[in-house]
Amino acid sequence: DEATVSNQTIVHYHPDMLDHRQQRLTMEAQLRKAIANYELRLYFQPQMDIATGKIIGAEALLRWQHGENMVSPVEFIPVAEQSGLIIEIGEWIIEQACRVAKNLLDAGQAIPIAINISARQFQHPELYQQIERALQRHQLPAELIELEITESVAMHQQDEVLAVLNRFKALGVGLSIDDFGTGYSSLAYLRQFPVNKLKIDRSFIVEMLEQSEDEALVNTIIGISHHLQMKVVAEGVETEPQLARLKEMGCDTLQGYLYSRPLPESDFNQFVKATTAS
Ligand code: C2E
Ligand code: MG
Ligand code: MG
Ligand code: MG
Repeated sequence: DEATVSNQTIVHYHPDMLDHRQQRLTMEAQLRKAIANYELRLYFQPQMDIATGKIIGAEALLRWQHGENMVSPVEFIPVAEQSGLIIEIGEWIIEQACRVAKNLLDAGQAIPIAINISARQFQHPELYQQIERALQRHQLPAELIELEITESVAMHQQDEVLAVLNRFKALGVGLSIDDFGTGYSSLAYLRQFPVNKLKIDRSFIVEMLEQSEDEALVNTIIGISHHLQMKVVAEGVETEPQLARLKEMGCDTLQGYLYSRPLPESDFNQFVKATTAS
């Protein structure tokens, strides 16, 4: 209604908001330069099979080395989203992830690489072709790429999301729901999703052993995943006692500092070599 519209106009010109807007534009300009200057790097965080202790995948995580500083993706991904730069950056990420997965495959290791797909990327009609072409270019089997969409993206406009996910499933890429537990999933929709994996958000893992509510939630998510024939990944595992409890609860996969931090490409390749050598 009109009252809301005029309120929004007032809020829009609030001095703090202008500052905020200015900051965002500055960061956007710097991000454009970062792309041109090759300041973006893709890191890889290993994922471990809890039962065997072996590496079974990795998540690609974006880093921005801006002068002396490492800018957090939590800060710049939203700017990339709002400006649309995420489409261009996303294509580069897909390319890098496929190249790294292919190099590993050629070295005898089939290790799926997971890519984070933001809301705007997911809605973009070109995403499918970007992925299909990159797989072809690298002669990479589709199952060695996995797409992570957050629970909030998955649960928004469910019918459209379902159609896109089904296309990707037909292509053969893996699909997982990230930050699970932070949104409001409809179990009825979740059941229809052609998703292979749920990733339990780190916020539930952090105090899992101290907060019985968190532990109960983790246990419930593991149960839901298995009932729906999905694998379940615990994010942000930092301690042995957390690992032991997750193992007892039947969690499949662990991702966290306990096993490894996100690593630059060469360190990641070394890590794979070292942990897969018999
Ligand atoms: P996410 O996809 O949920 O990624 C997991 C985050 O948890 C990563 O933070 C990772 O470094 C961090 N993490 C993993 N294990 C531990 C642990 O044991 N302890 C702690 N304290 N943290 C742990 P990061 O790399 O800062 O990324 C934050 C978020 O930014 C990601 O959350 C994702 O939503 C977004 N992001 C990162 N890279 C990309 C990208 O390439 N594309 C898109 N669209 N988003 C990205
Ligand atoms: Mg993720
Ligand atoms: Mg996550
Ligand atoms: Mg997260």
